[in-house]
Amino acid sequence: MKIVVIAGGQGTRIAFVNNEIPKAMIPINGKPILEYEVEMAKRYGYTDFLFIIGYMGEQIESYFGNGENWGVSIEYFKEEIPLGTAGALGYLKSRLTEDFFVFYGDTVMDFDMQHMLDFHRSKCADATLFLHPNDHPYDSDIVDLDAEGRVRQFHNKPHAEGFVSRNIVNAALFIFSPRILDKIELGVKSHIEKNVLPACLADGMKLYGYLSSEYIKDMGTPDRYYSVCDDVTSGKVARLNRKNSRPAIFLDRDGVITREVNLLCKPEQLELIEGAAEAIRYINHKGYLAIVVTNQPVIARNLCSMEELEFIHARLETMLGREHAYLNAIYYCPHHPDAGYPEERKEYKIKCGCRKPAPGMLLKAAEEWNVDMAQSYMIGDRESDVQAGENARCKGAFLIETNRKNALLDMVKNLI
Ligand SMILES: [Zn+2]
Repeated sequence: MKIVVIAGGQGTRIAFVNNEIPKAMIPINGKPILEYEVEMAKRYGYTDFLFIIGYMGEQIESYFGNGENWGVSIEYFKEEIPLGTAGALGYLKSRLTEDFFVFYGDTVMDFDMQHMLDFHRSKCADATLFLHPNDHPYDSDIVDLDAEGRVRQFHNKPHAEGFVSRNIVNAALFIFSPRILDKIELGVKSHIEKNVLPACLADGMKLYGYLSSEYIKDMGTPDRYYSVCDDVTSGKVARLNRKNSRPAIFLDRDGVITREVNLLCKPEQLELIEGAAEAIRYINHKGYLAIVVTNQPVIARNLCSMEELEFIHARLETMLGREHAYLNAIYYCPHHPDAGYPEERKEYKIKCGCRKPAPGMLLKAAEEWNVDMAQSYMIGDRESDVQAGENARCKGAFLIETNRKNALLDMVKNLI
């Protein structure tokens, strides 16, 4: 399987390098960003690279050569005229005959490539997009997914006033099947995110979103430079690879993050408790996963449709995003065990393994996110939350007072 690296585009200037250099050659601890990418892919057994180079590409070519110093093979495609991020791919159809990864050359990352590829194959996808929440979704490219992870819509920035969405951001890392290349017109300037993927979607192709909490940042702006260098040096970039388990804070929703309203079922009823966004931001900065686990019997009682509940969660993530806080995942139990009401939805009136105090949601999250349960905590405002945390063998499970200002913030600062 080939790794295609898009390393053309404009050059950049950084303070301590005298000349203009391609972004892919920006050094971190004396080593170009692109070299980290080559080394990561090599660790996963990928040794077949195709670099798309353009302006100042000779600097890349003279540094990497044919790749033998790294034990890999590197071919080049030199773009004579810049054709955007996708244009050059149109010329590579004969060289890209099976699924391939697409990296940007200026991205600092460390992710479990095999896990993403397994996901891609399990969906028989035409393209898989690496997606993640970030702390500024309001000015990011958002991807709307269905429950199976299939892309429904792209919402590229800038967003209209009052735009509401889940915090699912395109991180600009892909697996493509060669079928994607058919959507690229030869010799015409085009971009992957702006042109190619929307055209594929409009054509009914199967695009899937792969949600991850791994480290990925591009060097789009020089002000990120020093923080990214710190993250490489401190080992944070490598540590967040999915193969390393991570601790999580499991959070109840109603009364803990948002104001408890009896049977909340309308998005306009949603209101953040003071201090909740700051608490989640604190969890994010501490490197813990922030995962909501909430019982939502409003579905079983037919007070709220799945679509309405989804919109409520989109609104929640939008409100948190405005305060630079994000959730890694939301799990909800739509069931309720007591049948016998006239308006109820019988299919959800069951005894399930996910309704707290059962540990089902936490255990599912633990598996999907490789959570280190022995270092994780559950925080809720009911006894059933505490029991769920204990049943899932968290390190601790704690009760806070419903709707109390800063209750969550005080608790997380106490714990981590
Ligand atoms: Zn359930």
